[in-house]
Amino acid sequence: MERRRKKPEWPAFIDIRKYKGKAPQVFIIKERCKECEWCIIHCPEEILEKSDEINEKGYHPPKLVDGKTFDDCAECHFCELICPEFAIYVKVPEEDKGGSEEDE
Ligand code: SF4
Ligand code: SF4
Repeated sequence: MERRRKKPEWPAFIDIRKYKGKAPQVFIIKERCKECEWCIIHCPEEILEKSDEINEKGYHPPKLVDGKTFDDCAECHFCELICPEFAIYVKVPEEDKGGSEEDE
């Protein structure tokens, strides 16, 4: 019998975008990925999908869904927390402190 992964349902009362700052960047260390798809399954914004690329181990690392941008990322860090291979992480650009480099 085929086991199917069930997509988790997220509680409607949490609007995680409310807590979001600047557009985060999602980094994927492709060679570490073992294609478990946990990041894809658990991303509440559904912005990740399996790529056609194949890494050295023979796995398909995730990529951004076509048409999505980092602006669509809710900055929840779920993908980072759930990845068993430490192959994906999220970085948020520092807030603009208002000055220019010349001020320093
Ligand atoms: S931080 Fe959250 S919304 Fe952004 S890619 Fe990871 S799981 Fe998806
Ligand atoms: S959770 Fe990690 S190992 Fe699994 S598919 Fe995503 S990046 Fe690859």
